[in-house]
Amino acid sequence: MSKVALVGCSSYELYQVKKALLRGFSYFGGIKRVFQNKNRILLKPNLLTGENIEKAVTTHPSLFQGVAEILIENDFVCGYGDSPGFGSLETVAKKAGLYAPLKNLKIEKADFNGKQEVSYPKALQNRQFTLAKGVFHFDAILSLPKWKTHGLTRITGAVKNQFGCIPGLLKGEFHFKLPDVLHFSRMLVDLNLLLKPDFYIMDAIVAMEGNGPRNGRPRFMGLLAFSHDPIALDATLSRLVRLDPRMVITCLEGEKGGLGYWQENAIELVGDDFSHFYQPDFDVQREPMISYRKEGLLRSFRNLLLSKPIIDFSKCQACGVCIEFCPAQPKALYWKEKNRIPQHNYKYCIRCYCCQELCPHGAIRIKTPSIGKLLKR
Ligand code: SF4
Ligand code: SF4
Repeated sequence: MSKVALVGCSSYELYQVKKALLRGFSYFGGIKRVFQNKNRILLKPNLLTGENIEKAVTTHPSLFQGVAEILIENDFVCGYGDSPGFGSLETVAKKAGLYAPLKNLKIEKADFNGKQEVSYPKALQNRQFTLAKGVFHFDAILSLPKWKTHGLTRITGAVKNQFGCIPGLLKGEFHFKLPDVLHFSRMLVDLNLLLKPDFYIMDAIVAMEGNGPRNGRPRFMGLLAFSHDPIALDATLSRLVRLDPRMVITCLEGEKGGLGYWQENAIELVGDDFSHFYQPDFDVQREPMISYRKEGLLRSFRNLLLSKPIIDFSKCQACGVCIEFCPAQPKALYWKEKNRIPQHNYKYCIRCYCCQELCPHGAIRIKTPSIGKLLKR
């Protein structure tokens, strides 16, 4: 059995968040018990990119500050790090509201620029990773994911949060090498098995629905969720938004790999009642989607069947971010008229949805052809 604690928190007022955090830790015997025999704790928030806090793209600074204060009050040494999809850690952290806690509290900045090669022979699929060096300077990881929708993996929560431990542009290489969601999800599971974060606190006070993980709508859920098990946490949050966890490939593959449990009868829910947080109309991709395959019959019918990124030209500011970060080789985006209109070339597009994820102006959305919705992944 894995335990998941659901704790209501009606705002990001620091005193309320701290109260909810202390209650959450209490279901696991308190923070000293959670980090038994550990001293140096690395906070891993979701700092996808520098956006205003209200847009709910990044882990809220009150959660970050509340956790850091509780750790320091309990004599732990605290650090933080992430490798944003776009922008430097300093710039993104500042925009995400972390400037005050980082200035006022003793929180080390972990080295997320330096790289370290690591082998993981027991992996399901990926036996070699290049990780941020700073991860290895701490005794434990406390993962602080944000609950959001995602174009490729449907949701980004506890498991996907560790993708930020892969430095900079190396993340794009994984998208290129593992374009289909099954292999990409297996890689995420291996990454989590290797890093083994000790504990997870999901920021779902204000989550994101719709065109996530950067350009969706903030959605109030009033919830902080706690667990040692990232699969149980993602599966529980999925059920809360009426998404069958079997649609979340990291849940299925994670259980196979021994990372945790997704089935309801293997999860012990404690804290507030599940029904307080249930949001059946949460806007998330629930329909089956056809996954990209490099080879096979599907290749010929790809553009007919697969979901694809579409640019809304009325919103596009011609900034070029989508072209810069497209990991396909050759790139599946190009300037139709120099500096005026980006255009997709679906022949090369591997459906990683990095362009939709990183577009700073919310100009790219994913369109699923109706014929594609009829066929199972
Ligand atoms: S990232 Fe978005 S706004 Fe920038 S060029 Fe691409 S579609 Fe346009
Ligand atoms: S066009 Fe977008 S979805 Fe297609 S490969 Fe490039 S970044 Fe990925």
